[in-house]
Amino acid sequence: MYHSLKLTKELSLSQHSSLAIRSSLNTALPTVSASDTAFTAESVFNYANEAIIITDAENRVVEVNPAFCELTGFSLDQVKGKTPEAFSILPLDDHRAKRLQRDEIQLRDRSKSQVSYRSHDGQFYPGMMSVNRVRDELGNIHHHVIVLADLSAIPSHARHLKREVYFDSLTGLPNLQLLTQLIQESMQHADEKQLPLAICSLDIDYFENINARLGQQVGDILLASFAQRISHLLFGDDVLARVGGDEFVLLLHHGVDEDFFAQLLASIRQPLMMDGQSVHLTASLGVTVYPHDDAQGDVLLRHANQAMYRAKQRGRDTFHLFDPNHDRMLKVRHEQRQRFIDALAQDELCLYYQPQVDMYSGSVVGVEALIRWQHPEQGLLQPAQFLPIIDTTSLEVDLGEWVIDQALRQLTEWYALGIALPINVNISPTHLLMSNFSQRLGELLSRHPDVPPAMLKLEVLESAAMHDVQAALQNMSRCQALGVSFAIDDFGTGFSSLTHLRQLPVSLIKIDQSFVRDMLSDQDDMAIVESVIYMANRFKRPMLAEGVETLDHAKALMALGCGLAQGYGIARPMPAQALPGWLASWPDRTEWFALAHALR
Ligand code: C2E
Ligand code: MG
Ligand code: MG
Repeated sequence: MYHSLKLTKELSLSQHSSLAIRSSLNTALPTVSASDTAFTAESVFNYANEAIIITDAENRVVEVNPAFCELTGFSLDQVKGKTPEAFSILPLDDHRAKRLQRDEIQLRDRSKSQVSYRSHDGQFYPGMMSVNRVRDELGNIHHHVIVLADLSAIPSHARHLKREVYFDSLTGLPNLQLLTQLIQESMQHADEKQLPLAICSLDIDYFENINARLGQQVGDILLASFAQRISHLLFGDDVLARVGGDEFVLLLHHGVDEDFFAQLLASIRQPLMMDGQSVHLTASLGVTVYPHDDAQGDVLLRHANQAMYRAKQRGRDTFHLFDPNHDRMLKVRHEQRQRFIDALAQDELCLYYQPQVDMYSGSVVGVEALIRWQHPEQGLLQPAQFLPIIDTTSLEVDLGEWVIDQALRQLTEWYALGIALPINVNISPTHLLMSNFSQRLGELLSRHPDVPPAMLKLEVLESAAMHDVQAALQNMSRCQALGVSFAIDDFGTGFSSLTHLRQLPVSLIKIDQSFVRDMLSDQDDMAIVESVIYMANRFKRPMLAEGVETLDHAKALMALGCGLAQGYGIARPMPAQALPGWLASWPDRTEWFALAHALR
């Protein structure tokens, strides 16, 4: 997981390029001569923006680079043989952090910590110091490579501001304010180097319980210790920031994969020692990767947070990768739903009506109301083009109530024209299973007192009733008490058992059009139609065949004992105002009436 910085001639620049955050600082580094331009360790050493200090096994300085001299004002001669503390690179003043830091440095060959260092102007500035202990083949410490990055240079004006504006006082890590700027810099860096940048939001699981159990003070120490642990897992250019109580953000410049996050979680799971007690922590991680997620800095952070909440939902102690495509899809869905809400409010929806006839008598027994969207730009939309947008949302309830109300109005209107045909209305599963379904239906009916409730029939999907049989049964029987009856729609597609069919209070079974349409050419469909008709007859329930496209369908259905039909062969769904004309011309369709007579 770690890659250690070795002073070899082959070291490639790209691996250890300095953070772009330093580029804003106008450092006067030596100019490049043609012979110097090879990508060697020497050139990294000479041209890095970060101060680099090489110390021996005892941590005494043997070499410093020009950036070090530039940053601190010390020459090599002034610091040679001294330890970094001797020339004022100090751990943070917080004594707890100091203690932790020492322990950690003792333990690891690679560490990273917040320090403050004295610059050439005599002032102290925040820095990030990473120490790499390099060992020889026998495992003995050979030397140390110390890289000091000047954090105050990150926002170029930070030198004039107080430290606490940009750093969290407990952990010494960059805070949200600084992070926001670091993200910008990191994105720029990623663009320049054409490397991905992972933004990882980290939230400790149930930290509030730990605070409550161990007290705020121990909680604070734990957080500082936790921050230390995480920072040791990072590579040179990476950033760890604390953005809230137990919330951290990591900016990761190397190409991270799922293994990296699994390992990160695994090391978080290692117990932390607190006053002789071991404390177990887990965290939830949310990650988004720029430029795959090609968004602005603040949006990237939001996306990482969103993903972190998903990780929490998925049970915590896990990570979730933000998927920009999925997110775009959700956004489109959201916009479509908003558009649908407008359509409902602006009367862009309307009902078409498809007649249902009794083939034995030729009489029209009712109509089915079918929703259409007269879209101002896209023209007349069919239900399949927009119902999926609102599937399983509360908008289904809004639409359902609108449809019922509209159908009741239509009944009143037709009644005035002398047309008394019941209307079948489709009810979505979500709507049917609402606990106040029957109460709302009662209210809608009372708004149209001239309409006998028996003129309204509700078509419910077999699958809806199966979803929660008890709730469906309860709602259906309450509606029946209001005088409204039910039909079971698309029968044959929902795997309902005979027991349920017997239980459901339905007065009509509608055989799904997909079986009817192909029954003449497909033996399996014919078998289904035959069985449904047989079953419906056994349970003494009237049945209606949908999808009756031709007279041949009609004849076959009648021969099997199914008399009610609806389909393109009889009429396509039509606007309400077309219905009186169709009704008047229906008796002229003599072939249908001949059908009825032929069987008498
Ligand atoms: P459905 O309730 O099974 O309605 C019958 C569908 O079959 C209608 O499609 C109708 O136009 C079509 N159809 C009728 N006869 C024939 C035929 O002979 N051949 C063929 N190929 N198709 C025929 P539509 O209007 O596109 O509606 C599709 C589905 O959308 C409906 O199926 C229903 O499940 C749903 N739907 C329609 N209006 C509403 C509504 O107001 N509320 C709810 N929740 N769902 C609705
Ligand atoms: Mg229907
Ligand atoms: Mg149907």
